[in-house]
Amino acid sequence: MKYFYVTTPIYYVNDKPHVGHAYSTVIADCAARFKRLSGYKVFFQTGTDEHGLKIEKEADARGIAPKELADSMHIKFKELFSDLNISYDRFIRTTDADHVQTVRTAFEKLLKNGDIYLSEYEGWYCTPCETFLTEKSLSEGGKCPQCGRPASKVKEESYFLKLDKYEKKLLDFIENNSGFIKPEFRKNEVLSFVKEGLKNLSISRTSFKWGIPVPGDDNHVIYVWFDALLNYLTGLGHETYLEGRNPDFERFLESTNHIVGKDILKFHAVYWPIMLFALGLRPPKTILAHGWWLMDGAKMSKSLGNVIDPKVIVEKFGADALRYFLLSEITIGLDGDFNTGSFTVRYNSGLANDLGNLVSRTAAMLRKYADGKIPGKNAGEDAAVLNEALVLLNGLGERYDRYDFAKILEDIFRFINILNKYINDSAPWKLNINEPEDRSNLFKILKTAAVSIYYISYFIYPFMPETSGKINNMLNIKPFDLPGFSLDPGDAADYCEKLFKNGFSIAEKSEILFPRIKFE
Ligand SMILES: [Zn+2]
Repeated sequence: MKYFYVTTPIYYVNDKPHVGHAYSTVIADCAARFKRLSGYKVFFQTGTDEHGLKIEKEADARGIAPKELADSMHIKFKELFSDLNISYDRFIRTTDADHVQTVRTAFEKLLKNGDIYLSEYEGWYCTPCETFLTEKSLSEGGKCPQCGRPASKVKEESYFLKLDKYEKKLLDFIENNSGFIKPEFRKNEVLSFVKEGLKNLSISRTSFKWGIPVPGDDNHVIYVWFDALLNYLTGLGHETYLEGRNPDFERFLESTNHIVGKDILKFHAVYWPIMLFALGLRPPKTILAHGWWLMDGAKMSKSLGNVIDPKVIVEKFGADALRYFLLSEITIGLDGDFNTGSFTVRYNSGLANDLGNLVSRTAAMLRKYADGKIPGKNAGEDAAVLNEALVLLNGLGERYDRYDFAKILEDIFRFINILNKYINDSAPWKLNINEPEDRSNLFKILKTAAVSIYYISYFIYPFMPETSGKINNMLNIKPFDLPGFSLDPGDAADYCEKLFKNGFSIAEKSEILFPRIKFE
């Protein structure tokens, strides 16, 4: 059995979800769906980060308890992920009892091993970013280099995690594991950060209360990042693993893919592997750092009022339209621009015209010329067209491993247009169904189109699961996300041949997949 563990960052509950949250989560969902379809045992985790000063302050401002804030806000993430058809296996909250236990266990173990020690912290801290800053890294006027807000000077007793001890081990690991940080150009940023020398990390605070208390020292709460990163172990059942009752734990762990925004790469590629080293566990297989979405060229921010609410887009245009836009518009790793113009073009030309019309006119022709029946084995198929699908099938797994999503989608739509052109050029509506030669030609075209659409449905399933389901309904074929069903790309062609051998009736009616839109 092959394993695949994929995670999103856990999201802060101080504000409602925006398009950036949707993006990380859709990337992870697309990967999870492809792996499930390919027969992997998949565990997909997302969730919310509910501790820390930022949450405590936001709750104070609203006059409620931090847990109350977390309870009400985490629902908004769950709702969005449900709207977007996110197929997570667990939605973890850092206030969950098993997570609190994992954090306590890990802290105690590292304290006992001497990887955590008590000392005093004096330096700069950015509260909105929950980040300790060196004097050197502050931008002009003592501001946080990440968010531009003023950093504050703090001096307090603190527990520290030894980073320097593992510096060499981390450098070796990064250099010897080529797929560890993706895309490749981010690897050099991380390497140069580590090579500057790692200072031991303060991992507890005494100035506020909202967090997991340090075991045996209630004056301290555990630093929110130390707490948050461990969610990845909680989800896999770290406590049952320690008890020797979790045989899948290590297999999932070694197949870990963390999807993160580029702004939190350092936490995942530097602090997290060191925590794992100290715990005697292996670092993740891949950390994929994606870019940010801008709005009409500017960074989205509440104050500019240009934040895109993914919920509104889904309500207006459907989950698949948003998923398709996010995954096709930019190469993962680069920043992207969310503007209504490019959204409309991608929707109307790609989804409504190319894909939507292809499916509806094929269904219409099958009903008109073949009594709604896909012709069986005597009909013949156009090998030149179907070969294009086979070319796409080959190497799909490797391309998914590279998170080459935009390019995969580009090739799927290239195939869609090959098929559109094939239908236009062969003009089945001009053939005379009463002439034997025309009739056999006609059936060959219809069969080729139907089989190709089935391949298209397979190809788009990880990206647009709802649309894929609708196409399969139209074809009268079971959907790809039935429990236990999988179809490795290597076997898909054989499966398809058997499936279409005897011909069968399509559904009597089908809905329009993507009505054309105007977006203001
Ligand atoms: Zn900041």
